[in-house]
Amino acid sequence: MNGYKVFRAKFIYPVIRPPICDGAVVVKDGKILSVDKFSEIKKKFSAKVIDYGERAIMPALINVHTHLELSYLKKIPKPQKNFTQWLWQVVSEKQNIDQGKKTLLEKEAIDEMLSTGTGVLGDIRNTPPSYPSDKDIFILPFLEFLGFREELAEQRWGVWRDCIRDFVQPALHAPYTVHPDYMKKVKDLARAYNKKVSIHVAESREEVEFLITARGPLREILISHDAWDDKFRPPKKSPVAYLDSLGILDRDTICVHAIEINDEDIEILRKRQISVCLCPRSNYYLGLNQAPWERLKKAGIILSLGTDSLASNEDLNLFREMAYLLENAPFSPTALIEMATLNGAIALGKMNMGMLAPGALARMIALPVYGGDIATSIIESGCKRQIEWVR
Ligand SMILES: [Zn+2]
Repeated sequence: MNGYKVFRAKFIYPVIRPPICDGAVVVKDGKILSVDKFSEIKKKFSAKVIDYGERAIMPALINVHTHLELSYLKKIPKPQKNFTQWLWQVVSEKQNIDQGKKTLLEKEAIDEMLSTGTGVLGDIRNTPPSYPSDKDIFILPFLEFLGFREELAEQRWGVWRDCIRDFVQPALHAPYTVHPDYMKKVKDLARAYNKKVSIHVAESREEVEFLITARGPLREILISHDAWDDKFRPPKKSPVAYLDSLGILDRDTICVHAIEINDEDIEILRKRQISVCLCPRSNYYLGLNQAPWERLKKAGIILSLGTDSLASNEDLNLFREMAYLLENAPFSPTALIEMATLNGAIALGKMNMGMLAPGALARMIALPVYGGDIATSIIESGCKRQIEWVR
């Protein structure tokens, strides 16, 4: 049969159903036609078989939250002890960037993601994207809005709004860096265009302190960058409750981090069908707490994974994010792979990715499995970068 390709392997790992031993995936024009036992596929399709031997074929990983733009900050030593000191460093380094070097390091970061099995990513940016066209990676750019002082937000609004074209998604930086009226405006625009919004939420205790008292190191950072607004009155609410009171939270909002949250916040996240993106190694390297994994899991919140940027992580290998959680959190290896694939697709609203099923895009990787639990073996191989793209 013309145009078909059959990929066989010891295991096919579809994510949405249990692994298939001695299975195969049939692909045509970049899309999956069938996923089944190899013996069944052989009966129906007479195409040439590309055999991946003792490996498992699975969907490419989905990194929901990173900042390619900050790749030049990989020089920042990790771990850091202090979140606000780190933030200072990031903000001040931003002033003097060599554009050429920055672009080169972005390209290197994309190569690193590809070599570690990531095929889809959510990229938070402050400038419109110009991705290299020769890389086979699906990047969903989120253009971030920043502006806490009302006049500053107003100045930036027009240009930012004009940049949100069909392919760019909006992002808000955080509850402490965007004026409340402009948080609403960004979300309204996202609703009008039917787009996802990404926002860093409840990342640090300083953020909670700021929203309760309008004081602390985050206020100092705003003042020093001429971004403080004298008219700001603290909402005296948790970051999640504050965003909810502004109408920001719904199923199209991706909350990144969600560390400093209480039971009422979790109930809000559950009710609003929010998907939460965990970036556990970034949180660790910045000396932050970790999200309440157990309680989020119990509440049935959809959890996806992100590496965040090289400014706060030592690499962009999402398998290492899974390995970190496997060691420290109450998630099974199977659940972790689901978080790094299917749940990422749900978070980004790309339902033809993150799984092996008829109709899905054939963006697949193959990794050796060494016996024992398949999911554990996949994560171990991924950490060792033993990844091959299935083409
Ligand atoms: Zn981030």
